[in-house]
Amino acid sequence: MSATTSPVSQASPAPQATPVPAASPTPPAGTEMLPVEHQRLAAEVRDFADEVVAPASYEYDTARRLPMEIIAQMGQMGLFGLPIPREYDGQGRDYLSLCVAVEQLARVDQSIAVTLEAGLGLGAMPILTFGTDAQKERYLPALARGEELAAFGLTEAEAGSDAGATRTTARLEDGQWVIDGSKQFITNSGTPITSLVTITAVTGRRTGRSGTEGPALTSIIVPTSTPGFTVLPSYDKVGWHTSDTHPLRLDEVRVPEENLLGERGRGFSNFLSILDQGRVAIAALCVGAAQGCLEQAVARAKSRVVFAKPLGEHQHIAFTLARMQARVASARALMHEAARRLDAGLPISQEASIAKLVGSHAAADNARDACQIWGGYGFLNENVVSRHYRDSRILQVGEGTDEVQLGIIAKHLGFPGALAG
Ligand SMILES: Cc1cc2nc3c(=O)[nH]c(=O)nc-3n(C[C@H](O)[C@H](O)[C@H](O)COP(=O)(O)OP(=O)(O)OC[C@H]3O[C@@H](n4cnc5c(N)ncnc54)[C@H](O)[C@@H]3O)c2cc1C
Repeated sequence: MSATTSPVSQASPAPQATPVPAASPTPPAGTEMLPVEHQRLAAEVRDFADEVVAPASYEYDTARRLPMEIIAQMGQMGLFGLPIPREYDGQGRDYLSLCVAVEQLARVDQSIAVTLEAGLGLGAMPILTFGTDAQKERYLPALARGEELAAFGLTEAEAGSDAGATRTTARLEDGQWVIDGSKQFITNSGTPITSLVTITAVTGRRTGRSGTEGPALTSIIVPTSTPGFTVLPSYDKVGWHTSDTHPLRLDEVRVPEENLLGERGRGFSNFLSILDQGRVAIAALCVGAAQGCLEQAVARAKSRVVFAKPLGEHQHIAFTLARMQARVASARALMHEAARRLDAGLPISQEASIAKLVGSHAAADNARDACQIWGGYGFLNENVVSRHYRDSRILQVGEGTDEVQLGIIAKHLGFPGALAG
């Protein structure tokens, strides 16, 4: 079983990378200190990633299509229900479990990993965190079983890092929210099983804690079947080719008043806490990507002979590999710490930002180094390291850019001005 690039198209086949063997009884790298149930989950998802996901990745990446049959298998494995309570058909596990699963998938395929991360972190978790009992009962079971996907629509053309600049509006009319506006870059918003998008909209004005007045943002659940809700064609992205990303348009979209998610006018603080959680899972995705690149680079450094000895026995390459390992290990430690704090109910804003910042750089740097070690073969799209190289660009942008993470960390040091108007 090869866990990497296929199929190979040229007459003289490119060497295939060979990461850890599937079904290995050993726990995946970096999980040795986790509880045994997390180690088992990591091993199960690693084997699924190597045996099912990796062999199909190049084909789907080239076709730019989300493999729904793989998503269905992930649903059957219970991955979409990991941190959802059992009463809603979830697995009743902790957030660290989600991180463990996302990391193992991201080793071989970031698009598949982010489909899980966004489906849960941005789709289901807002409903679990802020939903009423009726909303949880109505929406969570199908999401937890992986039969449906949900998305989170915050970003707009004029409102990315500066989410306070949201232009989409919602007004109450005869017991219904009437929503007008548009959203950009919404992950999982156009798959065949996407059933709802939670959008943020301006519903009035409010005075913040500092005394300044600004727009009151509110989160509203919009079923994708609602008239006036349009999923526009997907983007031509640099990476994450199989991940589903669309702009959305909302023209006089009418949903019942009870689709309000959380408190009216509290959408801003609600999505900040959702993004904090999501960043921990994105940090796990970064660790997986960095780990996958390390595995591929080590395999190549062992098998490729140059100047009469394996690449890895040349000091510069050995040191490059050692640096890659140090990046993964430190990013993983930060991610585990943030996930454990989240599961313990402790504040995570700063820890999540640090884990995401360090993790996204580890992924990008390891992808660059892995491509270099693979030489010309690292420039072929069929090679997983070149896919990681393209895919890792978004890790320093999505769910808060580098600069947003730095602004959050600076705020915790007593300098809140970086992200304020
Ligand atoms: C593939 C993909 C998937 C996505 N999925 C989703 C999703 O599911 N839901 C969703 O709502 N959004 C999603 N996004 C949007 C993403 O979160 C935004 O692109 C991101 O938050 C940045 O916003 P922006 O693109 O508007 O950049 P801008 O906010 O315009 O920022 C441009 C640059 O300016 C910098 N900058 C901004 N403010 C400051 C400041 N105060 N000081 C210094 N520098 C600053 C930024 O860091 C960045 O480098 C996705 C994007 C992509 C590409």
